[in-house]
Amino acid sequence: MKRSKQLINEMKLTFPSLSENERFARIAVSGFLSQLDPCVDELSDIKTAVSEGVTNAIVHGYRGRIGNVLLQVKIFEGGYISIKIQDKGCGIENIEKAREPLFTTAPEDDRAGLGFSIMESFMENVKVRSQKDKGTTVILERRVRSRKQLL
Ligand code: ATP
Ligand code: MG
Repeated sequence: MKRSKQLINEMKLTFPSLSENERFARIAVSGFLSQLDPCVDELSDIKTAVSEGVTNAIVHGYRGRIGNVLLQVKIFEGGYISIKIQDKGCGIENIEKAREPLFTTAPEDDRAGLGFSIMESFMENVKVRSQKDKGTTVILERRVRSRKQLL
């Protein structure tokens, strides 16, 4: 996304890494983006990507403990959106490896290693920053078309 896009609206939420909050995060993002009048398919894709990112923060970032998850959504002119999911958990040792399809460090929990692949397929851009023991930031970007534009 070009940096020059004007910011139209934004929201920020913080919640503890309880599994119940994965659903809350999805609904909160969907409620905030409803002002763009998105089509159901696009909204559903975005909610799925958010769900994968927030689940990762909860189950991997804060594995075995509770910490805060930050969720920030920005809307830019032209319907461009950016969604930041941040934890202050254990961090990712090798980001490139973590992003590979089917790579997981939690096979014992029946994890498939597909979260990042799903985020990548549903969003135009996925940025990951992470530092061991400092935490992880995932930024999801894409454009949302309003239903009117599709008529
Ligand atoms: P699935 O998402 O299919 O249930 P998964 O979570 O293991 O499985 P991905 O979401 O692709 O797969 O993540 C790959 C790996 O990256 C994880 O197994 C974990 O090691 C690491 N990872 C992802 N997000 C974080 C995070 N926020 N903090 C620490 N490690 C993470
Ligand atoms: Mg995952």
